Amino acid sequence: MALKLFKNFGIKKPSKNAMNSWQRHLEIDGERIPVKVTENPRSTRLTLRLVPGGKSLKVTMPPHVDGKQLDDFLERNKNWVAAKRARLPKAVQAGEGATIPFLGVDHRIIHLDRLRGIVEIKEVAGEQCILVPGEPEHIPRKVETFMKKQARLQLNDAVSRYSKVLGVSAKSIRITDTTSRWGSCSTTRTLSFSWRIIMAPPEVLDYLAAHEVAHLREMNHSDRFWNHVRDICPDMELQKSWLRTNGARLHAVELG
Ligand SMILES: [Zn+2]
Repeated sequence: MALKLFKNFGIKKPSKNAMNSWQRHLEIDGERIPVKVTENPRSTRLTLRLVPGGKSLKVTMPPHVDGKQLDDFLERNKNWVAAKRARLPKAVQAGEGATIPFLGVDHRIIHLDRLRGIVEIKEVAGEQCILVPGEPEHIPRKVETFMKKQARLQLNDAVSRYSKVLGVSAKSIRITDTTSRWGSCSTTRTLSFSWRIIMAPPEVLDYLAAHEVAHLREMNHSDRFWNHVRDICPDMELQKSWLRTNGARLHAVELG
């Protein structure tokens, strides 16, 4: 109906390319939070979601909504967003002395006063530590490289184990830093994983790998799909709930 009206008056509805015009910001506690607005022809109402880590917001809106309705909606939900962000774990900078999880165990980052050498995991005075040589300002970047490499090793291993059991094979494995999801499986059989899963306990990483590998059999979340996941990862409910409860903490770690 709305479309017809536009046509009659010769006014064009904003095209897909004009979507940037929907870019918004929400001012919360003196911080400007970017809002990414996506128009979805199938949605019937405005919905708002805080991106894991709390650094941005995603809004989905039906096609008939105008700019003013969008702004009113954001204003109405401001307190909800502020409350939700306040409950998120505080951001942790992966610098000297910081504690970040690795394979489900808290590790303290310790700077080694020597230029050469590799990042290593070691117990120091009864505490699990990540030892980082080199210039102190390079610590976050070095920790990031280390974490991504470990994520790749563990995920390659888990994917190949589960692929054998299910009789499937992935084309490739990508390690990403997407905050919107932990993993995905493309139609070209590429499995993608957030490197952050290396901070979770190994059995949670295993569940995530099992989940994406099972998509190579069933490209959906049907009962058949979940049966495959359960076959190779019997305690999947436990791991799913761990991610739901603790995922935000893994998103709070900031690297280089
Ligand atoms: Zn899935």
